[in-house]
Amino acid sequence: MSPDALKVKDKKPGQRACDEKDAKGKLCVGHLKRWDKAPEEVRNQLGKGVEIYRCERCHTLYRPLAEDRSSAGLRYEDRPVNIFGDFSGRRS
Ligand SMILES: [Zn+2]
Repeated sequence: MSPDALKVKDKKPGQRACDEKDAKGKLCVGHLKRWDKAPEEVRNQLGKGVEIYRCERCHTLYRPLAEDRSSAGLRYEDRPVNIFGDFSGRRS
């Protein structure tokens, strides 16, 4: 699966129904469910620790609207290289 193919929408506070429109412009209104079993590549793209929701009908992904939009860098946190790379000279 290409990461670019992932469609992720912002879930507004309190939003529980999908507002994705189909080809005819009709609202989906599918129920947004917490997606605890999201594949790792999905989790990595959305950012670690982010709650992922998925529409039951059209499977559009949602993530809660974050107040801090600068959290995009979080996705690099799960790279152990970052932690040990900086201190590699002190490991021997
Ligand atoms: Zn939907």
